[in-house]
Amino acid sequence: MRMRKINPQNFRVATRGTSREINRRIALDLVRTHQPLSRADLARRMGLRRGAVSLIVNDLLEEGLIFEGMMGESARGRKPTFLYIETRMRCVVAVDIRVTRTYLMLADPLGRTLAATTSFATERDPKRLAAELARRIERVLIEHAEAGTCEGVGVVVPGMVDRATSRIIHAPTMGWRDVELRESLAAATGLPVFIENSGKACALAQMWSARGDAAEVSDLVFVSVSDGIGVGVVVNGEILRGRHNIAGEFGHVPLSIDGPRCACGANGCWEAYISNLATLSRYFGRDLREKPMPAEVASFTIEDLIARARAGDAKAVAAMSATARYLGLGLASIVNAVDPARIYIGGEIIAAWDLIESAVRTAIAERALSPDAAETEIRTVSLDEWPRLRGAAALVTAPAFAAPAVA
Ligand SMILES: [Zn+2]
Repeated sequence: MRMRKINPQNFRVATRGTSREINRRIALDLVRTHQPLSRADLARRMGLRRGAVSLIVNDLLEEGLIFEGMMGESARGRKPTFLYIETRMRCVVAVDIRVTRTYLMLADPLGRTLAATTSFATERDPKRLAAELARRIERVLIEHAEAGTCEGVGVVVPGMVDRATSRIIHAPTMGWRDVELRESLAAATGLPVFIENSGKACALAQMWSARGDAAEVSDLVFVSVSDGIGVGVVVNGEILRGRHNIAGEFGHVPLSIDGPRCACGANGCWEAYISNLATLSRYFGRDLREKPMPAEVASFTIEDLIARARAGDAKAVAAMSATARYLGLGLASIVNAVDPARIYIGGEIIAAWDLIESAVRTAIAERALSPDAAETEIRTVSLDEWPRLRGAAALVTAPAFAAPAVA
């Protein structure tokens, strides 16, 4: 087990206190990923003596972060005690802000849903949005008092977020530049608030996943195809941020400099070819951002288009196939630039994956720089896994756990 790479530009000298903190986080993460786990197993996995592990475990028990429970019986009839993450009476609120709707979920500290997800039409004005969110967060916490203490609010947004100030630098589809949301929401709710780009949060959720299916890869990319294109890149187990917090914004890398206008103001971005709106615009043969449009067009969704493609509507099939090809060409750029072990794809388009997969694969194979790279593993993440909301929940709780370098 290795810890995250230490950044030589920004490190603190490891005092006795910090190494204890690191061991605490490693212990918590081992319990999280292997629970139920006995003290003996924890000691073995940490490579520490039982006594040293007991000190850490006792601290964590005292703070209510883990609890001890019985499970099974050992061969000699002595009942061993197992460690579990304490998820009772602790909760987080996860918020997913999208262009049209904002989703809100109450979750336990491991990101598991505690109450039905709710949504409302997104208010574009940041101040009014923060006020509306605060009202709804307060209501869900009152209605679900049984969920216990709220440890914070995780918010994902379709834009780039400054890590130092938490300000939203640029959210093209929202029309936001240099927007403040975290402080007003924290002030209105009295809770700690964490904000992150939705693509990066999805990548975090995948690494953090209780299923742990990302545990075997340290280089992965999450691509969310929705109103816009969210991309999160993980290299060596760390989310790539870059100097100006815009690293990994493949949605705004051009497929063609003469292509359709993008929400960011440039022409031909990948997003302008494969977002849901781009696919629908292709189907209707008109730019759906231009208003007014007939009601039947305005209310038509990507799900409707997928249903028509399945029913054999040739125009719908053609619009989907074009999106599939552009999706694959952009994925080939990701493969060539990042060379990840695995790419996750989420978003509404996943419902049509069986229809588009071969076209996506063909386009990747056309541009990937080696035959092996063309075979890069792709896994789809379905909507009902709520990757963005899981990512939002992970923003609150994941920092308490060690993020072991996954190699
Ligand atoms: Zn763009």
